[in-house]
Amino acid sequence: MKFNTKTIHGGQQHDPAYGAVMPPIYQTSTYAQTTPGGHKGFEYSRTHNPTRKALEDSFASIENGKFGLAFGSGLAAIDAVIKLLKPGDEVVSTNDLYGGTYRLFTSIFEGFGIKFRFIGMENADNVEDYITDNTKLIWVETPTNPMMNIIDIKGIAVIAKKRNVLLAVDNTFATPYLQRPLDLGADIVMHSATKYLGGHSDVVMGALVVKDQRLAERLYFIQNASGAVCGPQDSFLVLRGIKTLHIRMQRHCENGEAIAKYLKNHPKIEKVYWPGFEDHPNHKIAVAQMDGFGGMISFVPKGSDYDKAIGIVENLKIFTLAESLGGVESLAGHPASMTHASIPKEEREKTGVVDSLIRLSVGIEDVDDLIADLEQAIQ
Ligand SMILES: *Cc1c(COP(=O)(O)O)cnc(C)c1O
Repeated sequence: MKFNTKTIHGGQQHDPAYGAVMPPIYQTSTYAQTTPGGHKGFEYSRTHNPTRKALEDSFASIENGKFGLAFGSGLAAIDAVIKLLKPGDEVVSTNDLYGGTYRLFTSIFEGFGIKFRFIGMENADNVEDYITDNTKLIWVETPTNPMMNIIDIKGIAVIAKKRNVLLAVDNTFATPYLQRPLDLGADIVMHSATKYLGGHSDVVMGALVVKDQRLAERLYFIQNASGAVCGPQDSFLVLRGIKTLHIRMQRHCENGEAIAKYLKNHPKIEKVYWPGFEDHPNHKIAVAQMDGFGGMISFVPKGSDYDKAIGIVENLKIFTLAESLGGVESLAGHPASMTHASIPKEEREKTGVVDSLIRLSVGIEDVDDLIADLEQAIQ
């Protein structure tokens, strides 16, 4: 089955009760048993729920994996991955990272004795220098947030295999429409399904997909034992979102490209970060591992400071000033004061997240309206 069919049919079957084409929202916590243990595969909804199961099978299908798991948020999904580890274990992580992931690693798990090394991974060969006998996991986010760096998943997967370390990739920005990390050698794919998979800014959810059965069993155990699952209504919404993922992503890419080029040619713009430009430092890897460049763009206005950047985002009318990304509507954000405020200023400026950086999540509106909106705000 090809991707554009998998988004609609992958892992799905009509509901066995009445043939409902969309899985019903099984709003139930428990399931009747005829005799103790005599049930139809569902006992309690933290463990299993039919609506969530339909979604988890869809996750597995679109990421070319075998096992999907849905969580109450993207961070809950990451939390489950780190719980594969124990005190003394080490993680080598991308340094240009979603702020909440950084906070979870440093403010929660470091306290439990897990060590995190945050490094630039633009050159995959560097990564091996940071792997020790205690390293159990490599955490990659690509494209990175918000600097749009590209990390060579295949190159890092070779190192991970050689050193017997798990490789997890946060695929939130790219989505499987553009990039399939399991095919490139990763062991775990993670999503904030809140973003493109849900796609309509109406739900918070996380996802994991793996191929290996033993790893899947351990993660299902953690999902049930820690209990950070999502509800059936949210499962339904994300399943519905995924059915249009491919056509939304196509338009996100088209609009993203037009806006990146508009900004790059603009006399008042200093710098534009978008992996589709030939002079992007890892453009070749982006071309090799992605099927397009998506709708995320960051830029720095010329001679700009904190106040000027805030002025631009406040003056936008169609772009909404908001956290998050990946919905049908265009959003603008100011990472230094919003998504990345939990990262210390020197740490974030090292990776390029300066006070004047603006991040756009380009939606699927008419691109002429979006460009006109940016033009009036920049002027
Ligand atoms: C939003 C986001 C997360 C966290 O997901 P939540 O659903 O907000 O918990 C993790 N990684 C990336 C890249 C994100 O954009």
